[in-house]
Amino acid sequence: MDLGLRDKVAIVTGGARGIGAAIGERLAMEGARVAVVDRDGAGAGAQADKLQTMGVEARAYAVDVTDEASVNDMVEAVADTWGSVHLLVNNAGFTRDMRITKMGVGDWDSVVDVILKGAFLCTRAVLPHMTAEGQRWGRIVNISSRAHLGNPGQANYSAAKAGLIGFTRAMSLENGRFGVTVNAIAPGIIDTQAVRDLPHYDKVREAAEKTTPVPRMGNPSDVADAVAFLLSERASYVSGDLLHVSGGRY
Ligand code: NDP
Repeated sequence: MDLGLRDKVAIVTGGARGIGAAIGERLAMEGARVAVVDRDGAGAGAQADKLQTMGVEARAYAVDVTDEASVNDMVEAVADTWGSVHLLVNNAGFTRDMRITKMGVGDWDSVVDVILKGAFLCTRAVLPHMTAEGQRWGRIVNISSRAHLGNPGQANYSAAKAGLIGFTRAMSLENGRFGVTVNAIAPGIIDTQAVRDLPHYDKVREAAEKTTPVPRMGNPSDVADAVAFLLSERASYVSGDLLHVSGGRY
């Protein structure tokens, strides 16, 4: 199936590693041009180099997605380089897990900011390009989480990931008539460095193998495949939706 992504210009936040890196690679396989955006500038540079070896144009941008001026500058730089922006994946995010009685304001703000403010700033910056008279085409995918259903120890993360789904629906309603679809993906447990760094990683893996209908942890490429579909021409009548990529685990 031709996804129709050749030469499209993509911005992937948190693109240096994990799920974001896999999304960049999947888009490169489709011939898209990829801006690897990450606060880890060295990691973003290495990932952009890797994408270039796959035969596509790729650039790295060292950006904290919660910084308004940096996000605006990055989007304008991408549009200046490649003419426009067609695809945005709001993927940057992290956890700061603890019981709510132990949770400081900084623990709350940092998680909510990277997930919600980051998506808001990046989306606001790309939309003028996607909705412009001569283009009227864009795709945005927000990486939520199965944690939107609520997890103990993740009040900040669960609230932000649930909020991201509301943001997705609002954006789909505002922008559908301009040719822009906006969807969200809720991954289950995906085997990335962020998960491998957990002190109880072995237990997490074991639990995933025992309790997931598809009895394993997910791979970053499982998420990337679903993202590529929602970003594609083939998904032009799908908007405001949430797709779980969780091996059937709710
Ligand atoms: P990783 O930690 O492996 O990768 C995330 C990348 O985002 C890192 O390079 C990180 O940089 C970067 N990043 C973090 N904060 C910012 C910021 N403010 N601005 C720019 N870049 C930033 O995470 P995953 O690949 O596991 O997760 C990717 C997304 O998927 C996240 O939104 C996560 O919540 C979501 N998700 C992950 C699941 C999983 O099981 N792995 C399950 C469900 C959802 P640095 O290294 O400096 O922190």
